[in-house]
Amino acid sequence: MAAQILDGKVMSASLRAEIAERVQKLKEQGVTPGLAVILVGNDPASEIYVRNKGNGCAETGMYSRTIQMPAETTQEQLEDTIDELNSDPAIHGILVQLPLPKHLDENAALAKILPEKDVDGFHLINAGHMLTGTEGVVACTPRGALYMIKSTGLDLNGKEAVVIGRSNIVGKPMAMLLLRENCTVTICHSRTKNLAEHTRRADILVAAVGKAGFVTADMVKPGSVVIDVGINRVDGKVKGDVDYDAVKEIAGWITPVPGGVGKMTITMLLANTVEAAERTLAK
Ligand code: NDP
Repeated sequence: MAAQILDGKVMSASLRAEIAERVQKLKEQGVTPGLAVILVGNDPASEIYVRNKGNGCAETGMYSRTIQMPAETTQEQLEDTIDELNSDPAIHGILVQLPLPKHLDENAALAKILPEKDVDGFHLINAGHMLTGTEGVVACTPRGALYMIKSTGLDLNGKEAVVIGRSNIVGKPMAMLLLRENCTVTICHSRTKNLAEHTRRADILVAAVGKAGFVTADMVKPGSVVIDVGINRVDGKVKGDVDYDAVKEIAGWITPVPGGVGKMTITMLLANTVEAAERTLAK
């Protein structure tokens, strides 16, 4: 039987309606949640992502500001801009669109963002919260992916979860979140031997590799949950890391690309921003 589709557009629509209500409540208390996105240079893919983030803010009634900086921006100029946003009360969330041009130090820039305004969840303090399972901002893509996994209604306790990819922004935080849900987690990467032996055991398989069609049907356990994080451009089309047409015949649930995790990532960014604004009132 073909897999059930975990539709990021449908899930996002209902989550964004809830977020819009929370924004409205904050506005009634005199606070408009505000997101600032810093874009350095003019990478076309980054420009699309930044536009989508602005559209998400508009859709939910939030304030958004895009700070477009030239490709030759210095580290000092970038960090000064972050400092200004840190002290701007109209801004509750700050995001530096990655990747930055090669001459800039990404980690140093991310470390400059106040942890409570770090709505991407990439600051070391938030990464530490993720590791220790304490309160903090959860990175948007893994948060969205976990929401989709939970939407299946499966009991996650003791499930075999396999994450392919160990990046700081997707693979590692995803594995931590699944561990928090009491899954037995395996993290695979480019040096993993006999990858398919791992993936075939997975009740939950998350692919965050960056290679179109990398996960093939023979790598998937029948009836499992397959979450495709990959965004790969092939002949002008966006493709996931999973061979969708073949795998959907084997899996129990699957996310499409586009219209899957990517859509949820922006929705979780909006959720992180509204939560950051709510925290300022709770102080
Ligand atoms: P990275 O390139 O940082 O990480 C890729 C990971 O895949 C690495 O850990 C790498 O291993 C592993 N890998 C590469 N080749 C293999 C292989 N042959 N076998 C097993 N593992 C392998 O990418 P990101 O984590 O940043 O992103 C992954 C994908 O997700 C990309 O397509 C990206 O565009 C997409 N993405 C999507 C988002 C969304 O909103 N949907 C958000 C962020 C990213 P090693 O560490 O050993 O090199």
